[in-house]
Amino acid sequence: MLERIYRAQRTMSAACETLGRQINIMEVCGTHTVSIFRSGIRFTLPDRIKLLSGPGCPVCVTDQSYIDAVLALSERDDCLIATYGDMIRVPGKGGSLETKQPHANVKVVLSSEDALQLAKDNPKKVIVFVAVGFETTAPATAVAVKEAEAEGIDNFCILSAHKLVVPAMRALLSEKNHKIDAFLCPGHVSVIIGYGAFAEIVKDFNRPCVVAGFEPMQVIEGLAEICRQLNEGKAEPKSIYNAVVTEQGNTTAQEAIAECFETADGYWRGLGKIAKSTLKLKDKYSRFDAFKKFNLTETAGGERNGCRCGEVLCGLIEPQECELFAKNCTPQQPVGPCMVSSEGACAAWFKYGRKKRTQ
Ligand code: SF4
Ligand code: SF4
Repeated sequence: MLERIYRAQRTMSAACETLGRQINIMEVCGTHTVSIFRSGIRFTLPDRIKLLSGPGCPVCVTDQSYIDAVLALSERDDCLIATYGDMIRVPGKGGSLETKQPHANVKVVLSSEDALQLAKDNPKKVIVFVAVGFETTAPATAVAVKEAEAEGIDNFCILSAHKLVVPAMRALLSEKNHKIDAFLCPGHVSVIIGYGAFAEIVKDFNRPCVVAGFEPMQVIEGLAEICRQLNEGKAEPKSIYNAVVTEQGNTTAQEAIAECFETADGYWRGLGKIAKSTLKLKDKYSRFDAFKKFNLTETAGGERNGCRCGEVLCGLIEPQECELFAKNCTPQQPVGPCMVSSEGACAAWFKYGRKKRTQ
C-alpha cells in the first residue's frame, strides 16, 4: 500500500514540475468530496494541485425555483409530498419543507418504491415524488413510474429534477470555469453511464476524465492517473474503478431511463439553464408528470442573500470565501443547499476543513 501511495505522489509531483503551474482538478461527486476530506488527502497533495468541489451533489444543484414549486404543492390539501430526507432542509424563497412542517403535507421516503407505496396507502391524496438525483437514481424513478402504469395507480406522479452529469461538465468548461484542467469523475454515476460517456468531454475540451471509487487509495490513484495524463500531454477517458465501472455502463439501467424519460433543457443552481441536462417524462407517461398535472413551469431561481453556492458549485470560490460560512450559515442553520447535504462542499468544509484553515 505504501509503495502505491509513494508511486502516486511521485507521479503528481512530476506533473507539477512539468507543468510549472497550479493544476485544478474538479471532483464531480459529493461522495468524493467527503472521502477526500475525511481521509485528509486534500492536505497531503503537492501545493500546486488544487481540488475543486463541483456540482456533484443532487441536493446542491437543485434550483431554488424547483424547491419553491415543491413548497407550493406541499400546501395543497390534496397533495402529499414524498421526498428524500435531505431535500426537506433545502431553503427556497419562503422557507423549507422542514420549517413548514407540521402544517405542510410531507413524508420522508427512502426510495421511489416507498413513494409508490404511499400512493397505494393514501388513495385520497395525490403523491408527488420529489424526483432528484443524477443517473444513479433516475432508473429507480423510471421503474416506479412503469409500475404505477402497470398497476393503474393514478394518484402517483413525479416532479422530475433528475440531472445529467456530462452536460454540466460541458457547461462548466464552456462558460463558467475554463481553468479546470481535469475531472475526477463520479463513481456511482459512472456505474450507470460507463466511463465511455466522458469521451465527448475529452474530445471536445481535451481534459482528462478519470473515474475512481471512493476508497482513499482509489482517489489517490485517480488523481495520479490524471497527473500522468497531464504530464504526458494526453487526455483520455479512463476508469480505475474497474470492479464496477465498465466502458458501456449498465445498459439495463440506461434502457429504463430511455423508456420513461427524454432529455430537456433544465435549470441548475449556480450554472443556470443547461441544454439537454435534465430528464423529463416522455409524453406517453405524462399523466405521471407533476409539472403537467399541476400546470407548473420551471424558471430560473435566484440565490438567497449573500449565499455563494453558485460560485462554489462552479469551483470559482472555496466555501470559506463565502462571508456567511460558519457564521450565519452552518449545517444546523443552512442558508444555502451546499451546507444542507452531508455531500455538499460547504458542509464538508465545515466538518473537516476548518481546522486546516485556521492553521
Ligand atoms: S449521487 Fe452518487 S455520484 Fe452523485 S454525488 Fe451522490 S454518490 Fe456521488
Ligand atoms: S457557506 Fe452557506 S451561504 Fe455560503 S455558499 Fe455555502 S451554503 Fe451558501
